[in-house]
Amino acid sequence: MPTPTSARVPDREDDLTATDPVNLLGLDRAALGQFLATMGERAFRAQQIFPWLHQRGITDFAAMTNIGKALAARLGDCATITGPEMVTESLSEDGTRKWVMRLADGNAIETVFIPEAERNTLCISSQVGCALDCAFCATAQEGFNRNLTAAEIVGQVWFAEHRLRAERNDSERVISNVVFMGMGEPLLNLKEVGPAIRILLDDLGYGLSRRRVTVSTAGVVPAFDRLYEVAPVSLAVSLHAPDDALRDKLVPLNKKYKIAELLQACRRYVAKDARRRVTFEYAMLAGVNDAPEQAHALARLLRAVPAKVNLIPFNPFPGTRFERSPDDVIDRFRDILLAAGLVTVTRRTRGDSIRAACGQLAGVVKERTRRVVPIHAS
Ligand code: SAH
Repeated sequence: MPTPTSARVPDREDDLTATDPVNLLGLDRAALGQFLATMGERAFRAQQIFPWLHQRGITDFAAMTNIGKALAARLGDCATITGPEMVTESLSEDGTRKWVMRLADGNAIETVFIPEAERNTLCISSQVGCALDCAFCATAQEGFNRNLTAAEIVGQVWFAEHRLRAERNDSERVISNVVFMGMGEPLLNLKEVGPAIRILLDDLGYGLSRRRVTVSTAGVVPAFDRLYEVAPVSLAVSLHAPDDALRDKLVPLNKKYKIAELLQACRRYVAKDARRRVTFEYAMLAGVNDAPEQAHALARLLRAVPAKVNLIPFNPFPGTRFERSPDDVIDRFRDILLAAGLVTVTRRTRGDSIRAACGQLAGVVKERTRRVVPIHAS
């Protein structure tokens, strides 16, 4: 099992040119090649090192038997392989597991593992807190602190994969799917999410197919094309309302990017692949967005988009004014969508006993002074 090693702290009194060691977990294969080139090494050595990091979970360069002692020693001087530090692990009776992880700066994030018969999904965070302020989400209450680095994003997968493997005493791959549905808005941190995705998809990394990596967004429209260029991974969009008036209130980002513009960007995202659909997430909020007319309006709205709908029974958290729609209301809503020809599933609530369900992740944001206001539409 990998144990997080603390980053080497250079002694700045003695060595004024010392820089912090580079955490290799955040470098995609091309960037690792470039890093090696700056050390005077051939870039192809990235292929030798990459699997040790991601497939074997090794933290000690000396254990990399194919790179030679000299390079291992030099890497030890200027690089680290450092995952997040586990603070707590909670296990729900349904098998869902939540880890609170501490980052080097003291902030905490949450990562959730959801085992199912046909897949094992890891739900990862992309930011400390979130700036979007969706009315029904616990993360919003925490405010925004900062973007995660690629190393911190990949570190969640690295930690979970190797911890679970060690526990099972098995070298078989455990995590089959990764969803960017934890804390934060991944498309407001594409600079770091991009390399992280490339590492997840890399055959020498986690080897996930692009369909098994899902980026969920509240609708940062201008970033859709850039995400597609990184890799056309699965796209989920947090819709939650069938009209702009209501969505403006639930997802304030809607004031900036209206539903019509959002759906246009969704169509473009899947246009090149006739088999692909965008998943639309819709939290079921009692008396707010769950009426039959709203289901009909949603069905009309999504008629022109290759779509599937994920209904998420609202997960309450302390201080919220919303309530979960009753089961029969959710069923009726689903049936209207099904009758209109939309593929619709009600997401099973997982991990709510450990506050690991959708919208319940709060972490511990150290300070919120850097809350980014321009995201909110004026
Ligand atoms: N910022 C991204 C990633 C978060 S994904 C996004 O907005 O898509 C988490 C999903 O859970 C989103 O669809 C979010 O809208 C939904 N969600 C948030 N709070 C919730 C709650 N309390 N109950 C159910 N779903 C919630």
